[in-house]
Amino acid sequence: MSIPTIIVEQLHKSFGHRQVLDEVNFRVTSGEMVALIGPSGSGKSTLMRHLVGLTCGNRGRGGRVELMGREVQASGRLRRASRGERCRIGYIFQQFNLVGRLSVLSNVLIGRLGSMPRARALLGRFTEQERQRARACLARVGLEEMTNQRANTLSGGQMQRVAIARVLMQDADVILADEPIASLDPRSAREVMEILSRIHAEDGRTVIVTLHQVDVARRYCHRAIALKDGRLYFDGAISELTDARLQSLYENAGLDEL
Ligand code: ADP
Ligand code: MG
Repeated sequence: MSIPTIIVEQLHKSFGHRQVLDEVNFRVTSGEMVALIGPSGSGKSTLMRHLVGLTCGNRGRGGRVELMGREVQASGRLRRASRGERCRIGYIFQQFNLVGRLSVLSNVLIGRLGSMPRARALLGRFTEQERQRARACLARVGLEEMTNQRANTLSGGQMQRVAIARVLMQDADVILADEPIASLDPRSAREVMEILSRIHAEDGRTVIVTLHQVDVARRYCHRAIALKDGRLYFDGAISELTDARLQSLYENAGLDEL
């Protein structure tokens, strides 16, 4: 049962002279829930984007990434090569990325489609079965009462739950969530983490979540991967992330980051 879902080998990326990822190596096994931590600017988002091929071009990029047995190519090529596979990876952003003028249900439905113009054109053509499924996904995140509401009338926490429902609709095996709770109040943040944790535990989906608060990571994740200045600083059981290690991880960062 320990099939590696994600293999990252000698991954590096530089923007001009700035080395943002420096020989990063790790593997994630199917069904793990991993916290990705590290100070601001340590390369977490860049790493997440590389996992899905959003690399800002091939310049300065080296190493390799394998996702569910397929090598991830830089930007455009991944898109053209494997739209199908791309849908098995759900990406959740800090800023939700919903279409504000569309209903909650529509936002979940179009999650299965690639590009937005195509999604809009096809909205009317979803089958009743697909709509039922979208409603079931919304029920799992506790939003079954809000299916017809416009997305831009929701609170931040509710929007993030719609984004999770969209990933469920995609039936993503791997969920990458980059700072999903960074702009939420504590209560909404807890709800979102509970939902992510539940879909991880109940469905066995692999989750990698970038978190700012180490205490939140401790509560929901068994494993932590920490980046410092683009290098892998720690990879292991989160229980082994001692205060001394954490202090050294954040030593040059602002106090508010700890
Ligand atoms: P984190 O998510 O850990 O805060 P990022 O991955 O966003 O870190 O950024 C790491 C570093 O890479 C930062 O110094 C950032 O300024 C730089 N960076 C990220 N994307 C680009 C880009 N497209 N062009 C130039 N520099 C970038
Ligand atoms: Mg980031």
